[in-house]
Amino acid sequence: MDGPAWRQRLRSLADEVPGLVPVAKGNGYGFGLARLAQEAQRLGVDTMAVGTPAEVPQVREHFDGDIVVLTPWQEDDPHAVELARDPRVVITVSRLTDLEVLANLGQEAGGAKPRVLVEVLTSMRRHGIPAEDLEGASMWTEFVDFRGWTIHLPIHPDPSDGVGEAGHLARLAQQALPGPVWMSHLPAADCVRLAEQLGQPVRLRLGTQLWLGRRSDLKVTATVLDVHPVRRGERAGYRQRPAPGDGWVVVVAGGTANGLGMEAPKPPTSIRQRAIAAATGGLEALGLALSPYTIDGAKRWFLEPPHMQSSLVFLPSKATPPVSGDQVPVEARLTTFTTDRVDLPEE
Ligand SMILES: *Cc1c(COP(=O)(O)O)cnc(C)c1O
Repeated sequence: MDGPAWRQRLRSLADEVPGLVPVAKGNGYGFGLARLAQEAQRLGVDTMAVGTPAEVPQVREHFDGDIVVLTPWQEDDPHAVELARDPRVVITVSRLTDLEVLANLGQEAGGAKPRVLVEVLTSMRRHGIPAEDLEGASMWTEFVDFRGWTIHLPIHPDPSDGVGEAGHLARLAQQALPGPVWMSHLPAADCVRLAEQLGQPVRLRLGTQLWLGRRSDLKVTATVLDVHPVRRGERAGYRQRPAPGDGWVVVVAGGTANGLGMEAPKPPTSIRQRAIAAATGGLEALGLALSPYTIDGAKRWFLEPPHMQSSLVFLPSKATPPVSGDQVPVEARLTTFTTDRVDLPEE
């Protein structure tokens, strides 16, 4: 990857978005959680967010600031209960009944109030307190450390719908209890405008757009491990599939352990489908699946479903074969992909 260009873009987003909250969760957007925590630290932001309680220990030693847990707090999760007492953690609360439980917990712990963001239900209808019940949150502010409202919008096809919904809910929340508003999936300029209108900080959480926002900074490649000539009909692989033509079997790094080729090749179900596939030159007629690897300028077919850490790919004889050690491009969805290595220098 182009580390300097990538970091420069993070820097300019952080400058553009006051109060930016980087989100690091799941597979760490292909980079890993620890690395993203280091990058958040480098940006000098005061807060980052993770998805679940289990992700907090993976970032806390790399990042000095506050850590927000985005998945709403659950009373019956002992880890979440422990985090409610952690002075570096801000939890998300999506039900008034949980605020009551937390208020009691705060008193029990000898005065350390749980630090909470209170979630407003949006048109996503996932988590949160419905608009008409927001007033109820103000009952508990004496017993919990209220850090603001959180509004997680769906990704509206028309961004102005998102702005309208965000503004409406944020104003209702301010009437119930004034405080900062934490937003997701709203354009940065709209957050700045909303902050002015509300007279409260609006903190924008960014995940995909921050880490993966400019794909040209990122290049995913796989190492060619071996190349073997093969004749049409000769068998290869665990499943001893016949080669569909003369060419090469290319053994490439990457497989199911990396989240590649997770859809098993299926033979076409009807004669008609086979005929269409054969007519369009697709090897799905033979029950093969297209791989995400590009070799000599084209996507190539898996000879058989990928294994844990390597894949067998068929390269026809008219192509120029790679040599062992070459890097070939891989199309990877970085939110589900596990990389073996990220080329990002420490400095
Ligand atoms: C995951 C998450 C984000 C980041 O989502 P992206 O689509 O990756 O930017 C933002 N806010 C909340 C509440 C989330 O759960």
